[in-house]
Amino acid sequence: NGTSRDRLRIAIQKSGRLAEPARALLSACGLSWRESRDKLFCYGESLPVDLLLVRDDDIPGLIADGVCDFGVVGRNELNEQAGARQSIGLPAAYQELRALGFGGCRLMLAVPEAWQWSGPEQLQGTRIATSYPAILAQWLQEQGVQASVVELSGSVEIAPKLGTADLICDLVSSGATLAANQLKPVQTLLESEAVLAGPVRRFEDQRAQLAAMLLRRMDGVLKLKD
Ligand code: ATP
Ligand code: ZN
Repeated sequence: NGTSRDRLRIAIQKSGRLAEPARALLSACGLSWRESRDKLFCYGESLPVDLLLVRDDDIPGLIADGVCDFGVVGRNELNEQAGARQSIGLPAAYQELRALGFGGCRLMLAVPEAWQWSGPEQLQGTRIATSYPAILAQWLQEQGVQASVVELSGSVEIAPKLGTADLICDLVSSGATLAANQLKPVQTLLESEAVLAGPVRRFEDQRAQLAAMLLRRMDGVLKLKD
């Protein structure tokens, strides 16, 4: 997408776990917005940096298509969509620029509580339910294990009880959801947190200076946090 622009557009989650911390981070970078009535687009006031409020799942694609210049999204979502592109032979379209220190969670395998976990080789021939089929398939391949990946868009934890899968691969933070479904986490596939994602291409217009300034300010804010 070769469209030239003189304002930056950052996609963040409209509502959900990453929505407030993403806004707080960008505010701390000195950005402010005039809220539009529908609040899907926030026009930047202090700097020419606008916000697009979307579902987190849409953020990698918006960057790939050049609709947005940056996005705040979970590494889990970014890596999943990167893996999906790779598996159909598309070139990389986005990259992780900064880890942001919030939205921490793990993508883990969880098995029924009665299982005795002995390691990845135990997964041979099993059915694993997940919303992260690309990450899971790649990990299984690295382990040299053949298992079938059952893709579900939600309520993954219920799959073993329903008999549609033997175990699951899902995001875990406290583990309370797993415990409520008589599952236990046994293996981490990915340590995730919110990240700043950007395109692999360089900006060739005024966005280059804006992007450099934003990253500089963000580095200052992130350094203060830890
Ligand atoms: P949307 O409506 O934007 O699609 P969603 O339901 O997919 O929302 P959230 O549940 O708000 O998204 O999660 C957003 C991100 O928060 C996840 O992709 C993940 O990176 C992070 N996260 C942190 N802890 C958890 C957790 N326990 N469960 C799920 N996601 C978590
Ligand atoms: Zn989502």
